[in-house]
Amino acid sequence: MEYKTTEALAEALRKLIPAADIRVAEPMEGHSTFRAGGAADLFIDLESVADLRTCVTLLSREEMPFFLLGRGSNLLVSDKGYPGAVLHLCGAAFKELVIEETKLTAGASVTLHQAAQAAYEAGLSGMEALSGIPGTVGGALTMNAGAYGTEMKDVVQRVTALDLRQLSETEEGIVRLSAEEMCFAYRGSVAKTRPLVFLEAELALTPGQQEDIRARMQELQAKRTEKQPLEFPSAGSTFKRPEGHFAGKLIEDAGLRGYRAGGAQVSEKHCGFIINTGGATATDILTLMRQVRDRVRETSGVTLEPEVMILGEEF
Ligand SMILES: Cc1cc2nc3c(=O)[nH]c(=O)nc-3n(C[C@H](O)[C@H](O)[C@H](O)COP(=O)(O)OP(=O)(O)OC[C@H]3O[C@@H](n4cnc5c(N)ncnc54)[C@H](O)[C@@H]3O)c2cc1C
Repeated sequence: MEYKTTEALAEALRKLIPAADIRVAEPMEGHSTFRAGGAADLFIDLESVADLRTCVTLLSREEMPFFLLGRGSNLLVSDKGYPGAVLHLCGAAFKELVIEETKLTAGASVTLHQAAQAAYEAGLSGMEALSGIPGTVGGALTMNAGAYGTEMKDVVQRVTALDLRQLSETEEGIVRLSAEEMCFAYRGSVAKTRPLVFLEAELALTPGQQEDIRARMQELQAKRTEKQPLEFPSAGSTFKRPEGHFAGKLIEDAGLRGYRAGGAQVSEKHCGFIINTGGATATDILTLMRQVRDRVRETSGVTLEPEVMILGEEF
């Protein structure tokens, strides 16, 4: 490793990719919808695919781990922080949204809400149920995000990604994946087994009546507001749905509605959500997650697995 300190590595990166905004010891609280967590050693706002390529090449050579951040709506960062680099795709190239006939092409940093809104304006149906998920296209591809009977797998036709295994001085590393090659599964995709940075997705939509599309989006948003504790910071469903069960019901049946650890609480409104009631640390949230997992295992024999990605600590 050539650079002895994070600051020296940051300086080298600033010279190589001057368009990037590179911060050392960046507090992650503001980058996670849980509003908790420690600092990342490096935080890098990237403007282009070329800069992303240069950045990951140097980080890999320096053996510094890195993490791709979307909107942080499925993320819990340890209070001890993340001993690596958080990469954030923020350039205009990652926010492009193009509609051609019934195909919507969206950059990785477009939010699902923006994509759904654009689809609605173009009279295209297919995104209504996904419109209330507060993440980006990149995060939603990774998670195969879904709600109310629709998952990303139902609309994704093709994805463009940077394959980090194919990065070298001579190879560009850009790959195009079909829906099949994305290996979508319940809250997962090919990203689990292959180091990919998603750059863009092509979504296949169908023509629809604008008023119907809007009515469906409004109906589902009203359902979310009624059933989910959107007034508190959280990362949505804390645990995956175990086969044959609902996590929220198991947690409720274990008597944990409203149960607390420090500032973290099992939501009174929806037991599937752990919320930050104000000032919760990541340790509070993790402690509560472990207590919930253990109690549910005792009462039902089912082991809950986190849906939330935990950065910097084992669950
Ligand atoms: C109030 C609330 C409600 C929610 N409701 C739902 C719901 O109904 N359904 C649902 O599925 N989820 C839901 N979620 C969870 C979350 O919004 C989704 O998982 C979303 O897809 C995460 O997107 P993100 O951009 O925030 O990703 P992040 O949380 O930033 O990251 C999630 C994962 O994606 C990876 N990633 C992000 N961008 C890229 C990229 N460009 N290339 C490769 N990997 C990338 C990250 O490394 C990480 O592994 C909810 C969350 C909240 C806070």
